[in-house]
Amino acid sequence: MVGKKGKAIIVGGSIAGVSCAHTLTLAGWDVLVLEKSSEPPARSPTGAGLGLDPQARQIIKSWLPQPHLLDEITLPLSIDQNQSTDSEKKVTRILTKGENFDFRAAYWSDIHALLYNALPQTMFLWGHKFLSFTMSQDKSTVKVKTLVTETQETIEIQGDLLVAADGCLSSIRKTFLPNLKLRYSGYCAWRGVFDFSEDEYSETVTGIKKAYPDLGRCLYFDLATQTHSVFYELTNKKLNWIWYVNQPEPELKNNSVTLKVSQEMLKKMHQEAETVWIPELARLMKVTKDPFLNVIYDCDPLERIFWGNAVLVGDAAHPTTPHGLRSTNMSVLDAEVLGKCLGKCGPENLSFGLEEYQRIRLPVVSEQVLYARRLGRIKQGLDHGGIGGDGFGLEQKEMPFFSSAPLA
Ligand SMILES: Cc1cc2nc3c(=O)[nH]c(=O)nc-3n(C[C@H](O)[C@H](O)[C@H](O)COP(=O)(O)OP(=O)(O)OC[C@H]3O[C@@H](n4cnc5c(N)ncnc54)[C@H](O)[C@@H]3O)c2cc1C
Repeated sequence: MVGKKGKAIIVGGSIAGVSCAHTLTLAGWDVLVLEKSSEPPARSPTGAGLGLDPQARQIIKSWLPQPHLLDEITLPLSIDQNQSTDSEKKVTRILTKGENFDFRAAYWSDIHALLYNALPQTMFLWGHKFLSFTMSQDKSTVKVKTLVTETQETIEIQGDLLVAADGCLSSIRKTFLPNLKLRYSGYCAWRGVFDFSEDEYSETVTGIKKAYPDLGRCLYFDLATQTHSVFYELTNKKLNWIWYVNQPEPELKNNSVTLKVSQEMLKKMHQEAETVWIPELARLMKVTKDPFLNVIYDCDPLERIFWGNAVLVGDAAHPTTPHGLRSTNMSVLDAEVLGKCLGKCGPENLSFGLEEYQRIRLPVVSEQVLYARRLGRIKQGLDHGGIGGDGFGLEQKEMPFFSSAPLA
């Protein structure tokens, strides 16, 4: 990069935010990350499992001083299997079995911690809630107003670039697209992580390993009538499950897509699991501590993802349903492409770099969001085409740009 160093203000310190902190630093920018949570999430393990594709893994490794750590905190997922459940007879039958899948399963907080710990911690302002911003008339600088939650004081920070990594409910996106509404998918997802490190030989664990013999290397999708679940193992003896349930749209509280779960809701979920799933899976759902409920949204592809010197990345740029295992992989690729484009153009030609980022990423993420939407609707029995309709396959490898997406 030639000339002066640019200063990027990233709002959001989750996967997209920390990924951009890596790539913009590598591109020669000064970086500051504002995150409303009071401390790094890794200190209180949060979230659940996710799947990383080969391209995202290769990119993450290129950012890390100790790339092998990524392999240590992930487990291979070499099989992608869809099976149907007969809820009456309580038996399963394999529909598709894709080998050579080459994803790896990770615990969200492990990935976050790996990326975060490889950055200077002075780059992060925790407990700083983004409130608003103003852009200079020539779009060369941006002033960001932030609430320091501990002192309740409002401060102003100036930079040359605003990166919105503030998630699917992005308030920065709202300032550019005030009328944009997310699309409720028609279902919510129960999610849970069962830790069996203390009791590896319990009836639950031996039962589930027998019913799912490829556990530890297989991404299982169980399809029943108008519902489906996902199941795979994580490192450190954890089992990750997700169960999608069709229901009317719940009311969101505290600007979060994660709902508070009451005892009554839990009890009902356990009872329904027994009627739908094979006993081994229903039992796993029942013994998992503190499952949580996510409301699933996506959004029609945006026409643009930057305005002046403000740019959207991650879920802020492309809220998506989770069926293509995309969110985290897309965030990593957004960050990589953004960093490469800005590194090439330098801060003095920021608009060219942002144009190029948008030109490369928008077609890819748009197709992937729509594909994930269709996959979810088919698996939830909401798509009239149904399984196999229009030749639409269930396997992950059918995802557009599955083997690789273009980089800068
Ligand atoms: C705590 C947590 C746990 C998660 N666990 C999983 C998981 O187990 N599996 C999975 O697949 N996905 C998980 N996700 C979602 C996953 O990170 C995203 O879907 C994907 O990686 C894209 O990330 P993102 O950074 O774009 O969005 P998000 O992960 O949603 O992050 C947005 C960030 O912006 C911050 N933010 C929002 N508004 C403001 C504001 N006004 N000021 C400052 N900061 C703001 C939020 O606190 C959050 O940290 C989790 C997200 C979070 C935040």
